[in-house]
Amino acid sequence: MAPEVVLVTGGTGLIGKAIEKVAIEEARPNERWVFVSSKDANLVSESETVALFQKYRPTYVIHLAAASGGLFRHLQSTLDFFRSNMKINDNVLQCCFKYNVKKCVSCLSTSVFPADSTYPVDETMIHHGVPHDSEFGFSFAKLMVDVMNHCYHQEYNCNFTSVILTNVFGPHDNFDLEDGHVIAGLIDKAYHSKRDNKPFVIWGTGSPRRQFIYSLDLARLFMWVLREYDEISPIILSVDEEDEVSIKEVAEMVVEAMNFQGEIIHDTTKSDGQFRRTVNNAKLRKYLPDFKFTPTKQGIKETAEWFIENYDVIRK
Ligand code: GDP
Repeated sequence: MAPEVVLVTGGTGLIGKAIEKVAIEEARPNERWVFVSSKDANLVSESETVALFQKYRPTYVIHLAAASGGLFRHLQSTLDFFRSNMKINDNVLQCCFKYNVKKCVSCLSTSVFPADSTYPVDETMIHHGVPHDSEFGFSFAKLMVDVMNHCYHQEYNCNFTSVILTNVFGPHDNFDLEDGHVIAGLIDKAYHSKRDNKPFVIWGTGSPRRQFIYSLDLARLFMWVLREYDEISPIILSVDEEDEVSIKEVAEMVVEAMNFQGEIIHDTTKSDGQFRRTVNNAKLRKYLPDFKFTPTKQGIKETAEWFIENYDVIRK
């Protein structure tokens, strides 16, 4: 029997690499996992997306690919992010439909929630208002994935669903300062501050709060969503509310993990972004009450160790 192909778009990034590691342990005998990146196909292009599906004929798709970046990139390029992500998602879901993909799991992020939400937010609130203007274009494009999932289900009974992620970090993160997210950015800065004997600079006030999920925990949850989760509507994959931390606390964990002992300063001319976006993971907890998350501090330590070991080859 021909193997069932699981195609992972955006498969060489932070989440894809973690899924690859977990899939090696949890793959079924008749499964072939294929991790593709923008080098294999530019998903903004319809013809390249079709060629990719033609080549692999996937049975399942985990759709991670997105045009994305940290807060500072989003502030600069919101229209580009909107247009690219709209095209990518439309191309991928249309191919999933045409090639009879049995299930497609796409990614949303907590930036999709209305900016004036009351916190914590949950899955029922995603279409209740306008996302924060710091990631406006990106967030609206992501919201349309849920709209498309429901349309495909309503018209063709497709099993396309999505997950909502909080801030993800781990090995293989993007450690580029301008494009990257906070934990990777801080690890990179701590490394250079220590090496060059310079102050360690935290951008913003340090008071915004975030729920961080370690990429390997997220990968395990992705496997569960692919195999077991049977709803079209999204599910939040996040640590519990009490595990939310401030950027200042995260910076302290990075300083400890990197053994940085110099001066620490804040650059408050840099934006804080959203102050908080606390999510309620009750839906996930209803399905998986006993799932154990890696404590943020331990995840940061492992990520810092990975960064130091791989410094010479890290994509920059
Ligand atoms: P967000 O969670 O989508 O807002 O994106 P980020 O991960 O880029 O930023 C989160 C928070 O970390 C914001 O309040 C930033 O001001 C703060 N921050 C502190 N230092 C850094 C850094 O070195 N890089 C980034 N990207 N953010 C930082």
